[in-house]
Amino acid sequence: MDQFPQPIRNPEVKYTKLFINNEFVDSISGKTFPTINPTNGQKICDVSEGDKADVDKAVEAAKTAFKLGSPWRRMDASKRGALLYKIAELMERDAQYLGSLETYDNGKPYLNSYGEMMFASNIVRYFAGSADKIGGKTIPVDGDFMCYTRHEPVGVCGAVIPWNYPVCMFALKLAPALACGNVIVFKPAEQTPLTALYMAALCKEAGVPPGVVNVVNGYGPTAGAAITANTDVDKIAFTGSTEVGQIIMQAAGATNIKRTTLELGGKSPNVIMDDADIESAAAWSHEAVMTNMGQCCVAGSRTFVHEKIYDQFVAKCRELGEKRTYGDPYELSTKNGPQVDKEQYSKIIELIESGKKEGAKVECGGEAVGGDGFFIKPTVFSGVTDNMRIAKEEIFGPVQQIFKFSTLDEVIERANATHYGLGAAVFTRNIDNAMLFVQGVRAGTVWVNCYNPPCYQAPFGGFKMSGLGREMGEYNLSQYQEVKTVMIKIPQKNS
Ligand code: ADP
Repeated sequence: MDQFPQPIRNPEVKYTKLFINNEFVDSISGKTFPTINPTNGQKICDVSEGDKADVDKAVEAAKTAFKLGSPWRRMDASKRGALLYKIAELMERDAQYLGSLETYDNGKPYLNSYGEMMFASNIVRYFAGSADKIGGKTIPVDGDFMCYTRHEPVGVCGAVIPWNYPVCMFALKLAPALACGNVIVFKPAEQTPLTALYMAALCKEAGVPPGVVNVVNGYGPTAGAAITANTDVDKIAFTGSTEVGQIIMQAAGATNIKRTTLELGGKSPNVIMDDADIESAAAWSHEAVMTNMGQCCVAGSRTFVHEKIYDQFVAKCRELGEKRTYGDPYELSTKNGPQVDKEQYSKIIELIESGKKEGAKVECGGEAVGGDGFFIKPTVFSGVTDNMRIAKEEIFGPVQQIFKFSTLDEVIERANATHYGLGAAVFTRNIDNAMLFVQGVRAGTVWVNCYNPPCYQAPFGGFKMSGLGREMGEYNLSQYQEVKTVMIKIPQKNS
């Protein structure tokens, strides 16, 4: 901890304009929008607001950068990798500032923001290493032909990203896209426009050619929709709500069949069998739903506990919930900061009230902290039943729901009784039960005796309405490539 860089409280904001063709520019309309500090509800600054005209301009710049013969298209794959390594290095150089800025704009505790910068730089480094290892195959076809495949970049990628892990999401779209030789236009979330602009500046400093990376801040239905509508955008990578994911997929289909990856919502089950290590399971389950103030698509928001250990486990969760520190996100001892904005905060409070009304028991929290910031007390509900709203809807807040179950078969069926399928976990010392759960649960990732440990090498994505495609790890690369089949006639020698 001695080496840990202290936060810069409310750091100076260096960039507020749009980033197009390696320049910071005003929006064409001249419009701006305020970005708010969720810790106190005060405005941080005004940021340029892009809409269709700016998105089209950014896409045009990206298209030009992608032209055959351009510096980007002529760049060796190893050089693209070197550029990504450089970006990762710059992110680490500036992690103290970037982390502090993230805390300012998003409200998450600095300790987590700093951790996010390190995680994000690791993502970039991971894909940097793959840039010159992307190759096709030689295929033994019938006849006098040589057949091989080229793995080519898809082209102009649109990245519409959310506010819960702004830098991580930026890195997660940027790195595989650039490793494969694509160009990209970002539309960051309107709640957290600042760190993406700083990331753009780092890309330029690293030597990324003009037009390869562009950032257009603005609102979803205007700037975001303009990306999905633009027929020069070849691919969309979206992370956000399932509702907006559906809109994006429709738009992608209705325009030019954009390649689409979607990482959407969840209501992930976390199952505690009666033979689990209760101390460890309770600690993981607490973090599973409280980390990042519950603003995590893969939050373990349904804790199913075996009836034999139910009371003991609930008591443990209550104790952890009561102990969880909240308040000033720049304090290193703070575990929970505010929710990202008033809208999210109000939605969570409304869902907490619905839980109370529908008969769930508040073990701790269950209310806002009060004051100007958007703080909610860490909340634990017991006695939750499957038909309650808090059992079905994604809360995206620091709210744990604890259910009771009797058998493994029953809990697998209940775990699967949702349109979501992002993550799932089981805590047990019985290998047979663990394997049956892994096989039976319909989710993109299953954890056994842990919950969502940080990992950037393994694929991540959803079954069912939690998404389409996989991000992170090697699987991610195929989502940023087109496969071109080449057939060459081989002249035959006369015998
Ligand atoms: P959340 O509910 O977590 O805020 P959203 O799905 O609403 O998540 O937002 C995620 C991202 O999608 C944000 O960048 C937002 O601006 C963008 N967005 C919202 N609506 C649309 C839309 N109609 N078209 C394209 N992007 C959108």
